[in-house]
Amino acid sequence: MQLDDLYREVIVDHYNHPRNYGKPDKWDIVVEGKNPVCGDEIKIYLNVRDNVVADVHFEGKGCSISIASASVMTETLRGKSLDEVKTILADFNQMLRGEVCERCEEYSDAIAFQGVTKFPVRVKCALLAWKTVEEIVNSNGDGTPPETTTTE
Ligand code: ZN
Repeated sequence: MQLDDLYREVIVDHYNHPRNYGKPDKWDIVVEGKNPVCGDEIKIYLNVRDNVVADVHFEGKGCSISIASASVMTETLRGKSLDEVKTILADFNQMLRGEVCERCEEYSDAIAFQGVTKFPVRVKCALLAWKTVEEIVNSNGDGTPPETTTTE
C-alpha cells in the first residue's frame, strides 16, 4: 500500500512508538473494540474528570494503521472536554468517509490518516479506536458506559 510519504512516516512512527501505550495505574472507564475483518483488537482506558478527558491510554494488537490511529487518538483526546471529543470523533469519521475536514489538521497527527480513504478495507482499522471511544461518549452523556471498570 502507498500513502503519501509524509503521512506514511507519521503512521509508521506511531506504530513503532505508540504514545500512551499500556495499562495505566488508574482509570475510570475501559472499553474494548474489535475489527474482525483485520483482526485488530484494542482496549482503551479513560480517566474522565469534570467531563474532561484527563488521561487516556490504550493497549492492543493489530495492523499498523489500527495501532497508529489509536496512538494518535490518545494524543488528540487528552485534555479535551467530552463535547469537544464528540466533535473530534465526528470530524475524524467525516475525514475517513473522504469528506473535507478542515479542523482535522488541528488534531495532533489525525490528518495523516486522510490517505487511508484510498484503501476502503483499511478505513475500519483507522476508525477502530475512535469508534470504540465514541461508544462511551455517546452512551449516556456523562462518560459512563453501560460497562464500567474502576480501580477505585
Ligand atoms: Zn487493521
